[in-house]
Amino acid sequence: MTINLSSDTVTKPTPAMLQAMMQAEVGDDVFQADPTVNALEEKGANLFGKESALFCPSGTMTNQIAIKVHTQPLDEVICHEYSHIYQYETGGPAFNSGVSLSLLPGKEGKITAQQIEAAIKPVYDWLPITKLVSLENTANKAGGSYYTLDEIQPITQLCKERALKLHLDGARLYNALAETGESTQEVGKHFDSISLCLSKGLGAPVGSLLIGDADFIRQARRFRKVMGGGMRQAGYLAAAGIFALDHHIDRLKEDHLHAKMIGEVLETLSYVENIRPIRTNLLFFDVKPPYTAASFLEQLSQYGIHSVPMGPQTVRFVTHLDVTREMVEKVIKSLARIGQA
Ligand SMILES: *Cc1c(COP(=O)(O)O)cnc(C)c1O
Repeated sequence: MTINLSSDTVTKPTPAMLQAMMQAEVGDDVFQADPTVNALEEKGANLFGKESALFCPSGTMTNQIAIKVHTQPLDEVICHEYSHIYQYETGGPAFNSGVSLSLLPGKEGKITAQQIEAAIKPVYDWLPITKLVSLENTANKAGGSYYTLDEIQPITQLCKERALKLHLDGARLYNALAETGESTQEVGKHFDSISLCLSKGLGAPVGSLLIGDADFIRQARRFRKVMGGGMRQAGYLAAAGIFALDHHIDRLKEDHLHAKMIGEVLETLSYVENIRPIRTNLLFFDVKPPYTAASFLEQLSQYGIHSVPMGPQTVRFVTHLDVTREMVEKVIKSLARIGQA
């Protein structure tokens, strides 16, 4: 039994999802003639009470297109310093949009309206123009923490008052909603654009949705094409996305429970410290010297359990659709055994 805790991106389509993919009716999506892609886009827009949506190959592309549509070169985007758009998108905002990022600190990957307000730049020729705020929910590098809409509401309000656009990097939004019980309709009212990954916790093999109003998506579609993201018979992939939205949302709580179960055993281990609060399906902790993250993971791999270091001492585990209860039990036993060795 091989157990991969590296990321929730490692899931493979279930037999039922594969079945749905194979039965998909397809066409050429560059001509907007793929009925399954069109159905997925309509479904995504409706879920969030928005006019339109766009199916893209990745969450990096949906985020980058959103930044591109919302900004002009020499503008600035306000976001948390741990944001995926800054940390893990290859410097894309500078490359694709010619914008700079204003990075704010904040507990558990979250920023507040007060902080944002203080960071909005006055208008001088020598300063970038603040144009966009981007929030990440759940916050990946911050440990899978989430915002509630009560926390987001003042940010939405501020953005309206100051004529800023508000984007949501909702790669793992459904993990947040599984905990808060809030609805996608409510989320939709708070943001100008939403990026949603189908290939993370939801278990689709490929794809993300960008959701917004009709004019925003019209522009987004042009940028998707110039970035090389116009796909042809993409309905086979969109069918997996539809299946994921229909069948894989309710089970996310199980992943969160599994993360907490592993967290409980970590608390008892003498070689582990600094376990970050476990909010959803991401689990961050440090191993104590003489272990390094790399040497610990090397030892763990002898039990068939794999993950990746997130710092010299820091390890991340991610629970997901392909991690069963039986596997969680094996992880717990193996971690305890390493402690005794
Ligand atoms: C995974 C992820 C993305 C997009 O990732 P892709 O691998 O490009 O699909 C964006 N934001 C966050 C927070 C993520 O975790």
